[in-house]
Amino acid sequence: MGLASFWATAAEARQFLGSPSRHEVAVLLCYLLILALLDRGLPGRIVPGALLEDKTRIHYKCNGFLSLLLLSVAFTMGAAMRLYSLEVIAEKGVELFFTTLIFCFLVSLIIYTAGSGSKIKSSSLRPRKTGNFLHDWWFGVQLNPGFLGIDLKFFTIKAGMMGWFFLNLSIGAKQIQIEGSLTLPMILYQAFSMIYVLDFFWFEEYMTSTWDIIAENFGLMLIFGDLVWIPFTFSIQGWWLLAHKPVLTKFAAILNVIIFILGYAVFRGANMQKHLFKKDPTSLIWGQPPKTVGEKLLVSGYWGIARHCNYLGDIILAFSFSLPCGASSLVPYFYPLYLFILLLWRERRDEARCKEKYKDLWVEYCKTVPWRIFPYLY
Ligand code: NDP
Repeated sequence: MGLASFWATAAEARQFLGSPSRHEVAVLLCYLLILALLDRGLPGRIVPGALLEDKTRIHYKCNGFLSLLLLSVAFTMGAAMRLYSLEVIAEKGVELFFTTLIFCFLVSLIIYTAGSGSKIKSSSLRPRKTGNFLHDWWFGVQLNPGFLGIDLKFFTIKAGMMGWFFLNLSIGAKQIQIEGSLTLPMILYQAFSMIYVLDFFWFEEYMTSTWDIIAENFGLMLIFGDLVWIPFTFSIQGWWLLAHKPVLTKFAAILNVIIFILGYAVFRGANMQKHLFKKDPTSLIWGQPPKTVGEKLLVSGYWGIARHCNYLGDIILAFSFSLPCGASSLVPYFYPLYLFILLLWRERRDEARCKEKYKDLWVEYCKTVPWRIFPYLY
């Protein structure tokens, strides 16, 4: 193949894949910049994070809900003023995907390089390298790197969740443009995922005690997971519904809503109970004083039904997001299937961490609550 035909093929591939243009790069950078300004500028509750090995704590500013509201108003006003159309994100989805993907690779390399050279000895910034480049790049080398006063790990998860929200808004607008209105399956998918994101930001402080925040280093895995995986794969049902029109009976829709509410109750209830217990170990659980193992591990409420009931709730929720798409294709079930595998793996990793940390207490907890995620099954 001559050089000229090589470049011609490469150009065709770029066109087919929707390669990033300056426009998409500008959109991504502007989005992150505005979010960073809102993060710094808006008031928010300051929440102390988990106690680190060196007995220090990171303090997180929780103003994501307000940021999301302001960004939503700005996004819709911009469209009303005809600066762009609401459908623009959905129309440029593939290009934005590749732009964000490349951005993640570049940023994670910078963070890996900066983190590897850190001379700071604190638990947050001390480099924790294995020496295997691929491992360290993927899993990261520092627990809580920051930039201009912003905790990068906390920031990227916010950026990803909001990205999913705006992608969904745009997908909804695109369906209205094509069909003239939203179909029932799209209304259900939009409502469920919107409630999930709003709930995430309403209870933003609960994030501060999650595994990602307290235990994972910040590397390509989290950067890619937050910025690419969350917005672009969690929205697959929405993309799919743009191209397909499954028929949903009233009965099926009501059942779908019930499954969503059930998943939400378990997911939110379990996470809330753990968070309240960590803040105040005497907080009532389902109206009763909490039962514990060694006063450290909660055995009441959802945490007495399975050791990771919060994962069970999340998996039920994820299925409820896909059920509006019917049963004609597996594609819209990508998210729940992925989450099922991820949480099974995560539970094993968390289990190993807790065994190491709580030792005999954990063994006793496992005896008292034998089920990992699914009561009476697993
Ligand atoms: P958890 O919020 O379950 O946190 C696990 C930690 O909680 C443990 O390491 C331990 O930490 C503490 N813990 C465990 N059992 C008990 C107990 N009985 N009593 C008191 N403390 C306990 O895990 P995640 O951070 O993984 O998940 C948080 C939420 O995020 C979940 O609902 C999950 O479904 C969701 N999630 C969603 C994802 C998605 O892609 N949609 C991906 C990942 C998570 P300690 O050392 O502090 O005691």
